[in-house]
This record gives sequence, C-alpha cells and structure tokens, in this order.
Amino acid sequence: MQPAELSAVEIVAAIRQGDMTAVQCTEAFLDRAARLDGSINAFLKIDREGALETAAAIDARRKAGKPLGALAGLPVAVKDALCTRDLPTTCASKMLAGFRPPYDADTVARLRAADAVIVGKTNMDEFAMGGSNENSAFGPVKNPWDLSRAPGGSSGGSAACVAADMAPVAIGSDTGGSIRQPAGLCGITGLKPTYGRVSRRGLVAFASSLDQIGPMARSAADCALVLETIAGHDPRDSTSLTAEVPRYSELLEQPLTGLKIGRVAEHYAEGLDPEVRKGVDEAYAVFEAAGATVHDIELPHAKYGVPTYYLIAPCEASSNLARYDGAHYGHRAEPGTGHQAEPAGGHRAESGSSQHFDSPLVEMYCRSRGEGFGPEVKRRIMLGTYALSAGYYDAYYAKALKVRRLIRQDYLDAFAKVDLIGGPVSATPAFKLGEKTGDPLAMYLVDLYTVATNLAGVGGISFPCGFTRGGLPVGFQLQGPALAEPLLLRATDRFQRLTDWHLRRPKQTA
Ligand code: GLN
Repeated sequence: MQPAELSAVEIVAAIRQGDMTAVQCTEAFLDRAARLDGSINAFLKIDREGALETAAAIDARRKAGKPLGALAGLPVAVKDALCTRDLPTTCASKMLAGFRPPYDADTVARLRAADAVIVGKTNMDEFAMGGSNENSAFGPVKNPWDLSRAPGGSSGGSAACVAADMAPVAIGSDTGGSIRQPAGLCGITGLKPTYGRVSRRGLVAFASSLDQIGPMARSAADCALVLETIAGHDPRDSTSLTAEVPRYSELLEQPLTGLKIGRVAEHYAEGLDPEVRKGVDEAYAVFEAAGATVHDIELPHAKYGVPTYYLIAPCEASSNLARYDGAHYGHRAEPGTGHQAEPAGGHRAESGSSQHFDSPLVEMYCRSRGEGFGPEVKRRIMLGTYALSAGYYDAYYAKALKVRRLIRQDYLDAFAKVDLIGGPVSATPAFKLGEKTGDPLAMYLVDLYTVATNLAGVGGISFPCGFTRGGLPVGFQLQGPALAEPLLLRATDRFQRLTDWHLRRPKQTA
C-alpha cells in the first residue's frame, strides 16, 4: 500500500483497520518530503522525529486496544502562521525567526486531540501578505506542476506540499483568498469556512475581521473529514461561532438535483484567461449534468472588492503588527550606536544622511521593525497607518467599511436567488516566479475573485476543474451563504465523483 496514493479518508480507515501503521504512513510522507522539498521549499520545518514519535505512540495505543481519535495517524502539515508549542512559528518572517509559542493554536490542539500527526510547518508569504509565496523571508515555494512558477499564496507551502504528496492534508489560512487561490493554482481542494467557524486563537493575526483557518487536501471528502475536527466554538476566540458542528463527511451523499448555482456576469471581465474560462464553463456543465441549474446573477459591487480589501486588510494589519516592537514580541535589533544610528537593515538612505531617533527606545523600535519586516509587510503597515490616520480615516477606512457592507448585501441578495455562487478562483493559471514581484498592483489583482468572500464573511471552496494545454491546473470556486459548508463540500464532492481532475498528479514529483 502506497500511502501517498491514498486519500485522507482512506489513510484514516487503513490505520484504524490495521492495514497500515501510523509509523509506516508518516514515514512514507516524510520520505517524500525529504526527497522532494529541496526543490519545492514547501516546508519551513519538517519535524521527522516528533512526527514519528507521535505516530509510534498512536500505534502503541491501537495495539493496546485503547480508543483512537478521529484522525488517528493522519499526517498533517500546518501553515507556519499557526502557533505550535513544540515547533518554531515564524509566519515566514525574520521578525519571528526562532519563536516558539508557549501554546498551540486551537486548530493545532484539536488536531493533536484527534491523534493527527503534525509533520511540519509550511512556508507562506510573510505574515500571510501576498498571493505568490514570494514574500517569504525564507525563499519562495515552487509550484509542483512547474517549478518555474509560483504556487500562489499566501498558503503556497500548504498547497504545494499536498500537490506533491508530501502530506495528504495541510492547514491554511485565508484572509482574502490565501487558501483558495493557492489550492486553485496547485490543483488541490481548499476550503475557506465561514468567518468564525474555526477558532482563530493562535493564528498569528493579519486582518482579524477577515482571517479564517481551513483545510487543504486532495478532495472535498478529505476537507470534510478535517473540518469536522477543527471547526467549533472556542470560548477563547470571541468571534468563533457557537453553532453546532455538523458531521460534514456524513452529509455528502445527497444528490444535487434542484441546486441553483449563480454565474456572475462580473466574473467574465477582461483579463480572464481563455483556458481558465473554458475550464470554468465546463465545470458549470458538469454541475448541470449532476442536476443543478445555473442562473446568471450580478454582484454589482464586486469590482470594489480589491480596493476595499486593500484598505481594510492593511488597516487591521497595521494595528495587529504594532505588537512587534522588539520589546514585547519579535526580533530585537542589537543596541545601536546612539541616537544617530544607521537606518534599518544597515543600508544608508540614498541621500547619505543618517537617521535621527528621539530616544534609544524609539531607535530600538524602529531598527527592530526595520530589520524584522520584509518590504511587502512594511508597505501594508504604511498603507494601513496612512488610511487610519486623523484626516484620512473617514475618506479611506470608514468608506471602505461602508463599501464592505454593500458587498455583503450583494451576497445576501444573491443568496436569496441561488444556493451557491460559482466562478473562477483566479483569472490566470499559475504565473512565473518573478512575473509580478515588481508591480504590487498586478499582484493585488490576483485576488480579484477571492477577497469579496472574506469581506462578506461567507465561505468558499476551490478545486481543480481542468488543465491548460501547458499542463497547469485551472481552479473553480464555489461560494455559499454563512455556514453552508455542508453544501459547499457536498457540491464539490459530487463534482469530484463525476470528474478526475483532482486525482491528477504533477509529473515532476512522481
Ligand atoms: N493575497 C491577499 C493578500 O495579499 C490575500 C492574503 C491572504 O488571504 N492571507 O493580502
């Protein structure tokens, strides 16, 4: 039995039945990671020793006839934005290099309690800010389908490690598309649950009103299995929802007869790659064949999604990231040379003038932040600080909140007519590494189809619906009303029973 060829559902069943041990399974994935990750860079940390120890303990418990958790023996890779007590948590930032949190994120605690095996921490854009993984302080991730291309971001490491079968399941986080977009570009399935469905406790905060944790795996059935473990109320996250967690994996069977799927006119805007369009149109046809009906709808404010997101997210980030001052949290610069210190990173400003600090404390703050944060994070902090500053607050931040309300209203209106909204995840397939790094606006536009989901607080799932002639995956997205995860998963599962796009594997990592 080749563990890398099995789904998460099959792995859990095989270990439970004794067809495979947790150690055999974990070892198989770790061996693949050891062989492949040198060229992919999906992991920031592989915990071979810890994972094998956990797996051995699970095998021993099974042998002794003791009860096992719902995910017993399932290897899971965790995005490095989630706190792990026994492993470094860096958020791919020099600011947090070497940081070991004193506690586990709620999601990690739930995974451990269910006897999942945490195999490592995955690479990402620094502080989850980015759409290509090129903003990692520890080098970009390569797309397993074409190593010269980006895997998407910010959960690019999680997506690439599942795509290359280095773990059957990974955990990601999605503030404006960071689960769905890399899942789409890497040909896997990724679910961003409704805001509050999964606790954010221990997820390093980026934009707290948008952040949400979710599963990334080969299939909707595997995502369902993991979601039922990680979802649920957490009294220590006041935004986590109290609604009962359904048994998602038991709700997949019902056919799609009568399901209404909305097709959004705005999705067919200029810039949609013709091969992506073809994949998306064919996906609608598959849903129709499964008994669903497709209806044209409008999301009139969708075009304001990107500008609204790029005000709200940086505003919240500038506030959240204020805690990294070198005193309370994060990297601390070496004591400087007094008030006339060199600017951050040791680079002198072009004018050659040296920077003046008001006090040694201010100097320490400035130099710690200057050295610890990468360029995109600094850009977001500056954007957010500007938009929140007196005199600009109403024009930018308050205005963005009003537009956010209109976007949410669009969704509420749409869900009065249809059950789910379909469409592309990204306008193009995976782009070349370096292609967009010089142009932040071009990079922000990769979020065109994903940010509105977070602004509206609803759920979305992305999954492969075809391939380009060049062999790159094309992703389809379904969005649903609040707490419609059972329907998102069921519709995707049905699609995956009728197609085999999600079963294709990249040749480069065979
Ligand atoms: N690409 C978006 C950004 O750069 C989304 C990131 C995310 O969802 N974490 O902010």
